[in-house]
Amino acid sequence: MTKTIIIKKINDIRAKVNKYKAKGQMVGFVPTMGALHIGHESLIERARKECDIVIVSIFVNPTQFGPNEDFNKYPRQLEADSELCSKHSVDVVFAPDSKDIYPEGDATVVVSPGQYQDRLCEKSRPGHFNGVTTVVAKLFNIITPDKAYLGQKDAQQLAIIKKMVRDLNFSVEIVPCPTVRDVDGLAFSSRNKYLALEAREKALSLYRCLKKAVEDGDLEQAKSELHAEVELEYLEKVSLGEDDFIAIAAKVDGVRLIDNISMPL
Ligand code: AMP
Repeated sequence: MTKTIIIKKINDIRAKVNKYKAKGQMVGFVPTMGALHIGHESLIERARKECDIVIVSIFVNPTQFGPNEDFNKYPRQLEADSELCSKHSVDVVFAPDSKDIYPEGDATVVVSPGQYQDRLCEKSRPGHFNGVTTVVAKLFNIITPDKAYLGQKDAQQLAIIKKMVRDLNFSVEIVPCPTVRDVDGLAFSSRNKYLALEAREKALSLYRCLKKAVEDGDLEQAKSELHAEVELEYLEKVSLGEDDFIAIAAKVDGVRLIDNISMPL
């Protein structure tokens, strides 16, 4: 087991990465917003297997939250997250302060590609993906990883980041990792913490709906699988670059959840 070190300052992580690179070590990076769960752990394990050095970032990025979203109540648990990272022999947890990532309060925005952005989540979360690409670009520039591990759970985000890396010539290899689900089928998410037992039962109907949509190819029919109290935002077949999937977003007792299943369209 490697003792994980926590680094908060940008200059310190740069110095550390320079040392790794000088030794010829390959750096794997897992960007997260913390409240780590089994889904995150699968990304970390994959990075651990494939790279000499594993860096996990924990940063609840303010620019990807809308004004009425859950930025303030998003779970923050750096100590528990760092312990979990130690168990997986993560070398460094990079947990910067917002004032260091956004010293002037805002940043030059990396704009998400329109044809990937103007659909699915962007409709209810305008500006969300500009916040995501901006912070991921900043993190890639700070850490300069050889490989970055991203979950297919956030399929639109993954497609946008892959395109950003191609378009802006970042020298990082993006490694997509499959969605990890609980035994009942619910995709692990930091936001599952908000779900009471009853809400969790309702949330399970999202995956049922997705599976039905994949089986029958009939999206309207598949919607009948949703629990009556689930507020559907979208259920759509999409093709973003090389990624084809059926995606769903819905609110369950006020908690917004997303999920998807990849499939050739
Ligand atoms: P987040 O902390 O929610 O920003 O997620 C950080 C990374 O973990 C992203 O690349 C997500 O796609 C990935 N991730 C989140 N949940 C899961 C899951 N259930 N299975 C696989 N990857 C996940």
